[in-house]
Amino acid sequence: MKLPLNIDYTGKVVVVTGAGGLICGAMARAFAESGAKVAALDLNEDAVKKLASELKAEGYICEGYKANVLEADALEAVHEAVLRDLGPCDILVNGAGGNNPRATTDNEYHHEAKEGGKSFFDLDQSGVDFVFKLNFQGTLIPTQIFAKDMAERKCGNILNISSMNSFTPLTKIPAYSAAKAAISNFTKWLATHFAGTGVRCNAIAPGFLVSAQNRALLYNEDGTPTARSAKILNGTPMGRFVDADELIGATLFLCDDRSASAITGVVLPIDCGFAAYSGV
Ligand code: NAD
Repeated sequence: MKLPLNIDYTGKVVVVTGAGGLICGAMARAFAESGAKVAALDLNEDAVKKLASELKAEGYICEGYKANVLEADALEAVHEAVLRDLGPCDILVNGAGGNNPRATTDNEYHHEAKEGGKSFFDLDQSGVDFVFKLNFQGTLIPTQIFAKDMAERKCGNILNISSMNSFTPLTKIPAYSAAKAAISNFTKWLATHFAGTGVRCNAIAPGFLVSAQNRALLYNEDGTPTARSAKILNGTPMGRFVDADELIGATLFLCDDRSASAITGVVLPIDCGFAAYSGV
């Protein structure tokens, strides 16, 4: 990866949850290439082991750990393993998260709901719980476990992943939008709570990325944008999607105490202008 910023993270231990995925895999790689000792955590063990072995083969320091961000006891055991393998955590990136189809309505507007489709009234409670738990508790629990290392040593950084749907909710995904709003709120809470300890906490709010999971929702088979995709691009002043690599500069900047020493509690949109545009 061509790093956008040349910040030296040598010696820092960076724990990245969701590192088996698109965004946090790129972040884990960027920290490793910047000299950090990276602990890549994910439910998908194969993905983080593969990432770790690729990075090690390139001469970087990275260990992969199977971890469920919702299981505190198992996560404590991962924390012990990280302490043993790499040392205490300096930087925590809370990246595990996402939506679930069970918490998604079929229609944007209720008056357009079709017979047999999933309306707001049909949303599955267990799907809503899943999305809230994964995004909110999935950020709170790893922070309880890994930020202890930081509070004890009176320095460190937490980076949460919010979304531009936290500023204005997106149609069809009420639970995911609300859960990401909770992440933005919690980022400010943590920033305030830890301010006296020297631990900073910020978030990035990525816009729309094209990933393996959502490609079919965004593009038709012939490569033209779907109706939802066209709506997104029309609502994006820069007229394009965000690339995962475009999140790296802000990530490296916000987690560096020399660059961002007075920045805590911010939620930085990286969305090609989507959150700034009223549509008119
Ligand atoms: P992704 O699906 O590629 O990666 C998410 C990773 O989290 C996966 O590897 C998955 O195995 C892991 N995971 C899921 N549940 C877990 C659990 N309980 N414990 C540990 N790991 C778990 O998704 P992504 O697009 O890279 O998203 C990363 C973060 O960015 C998420 O928080 C997501 O909500 C957020 N985000 C994504 C977009 C986007 O357009 N892709 C936009 C805004 C915010």
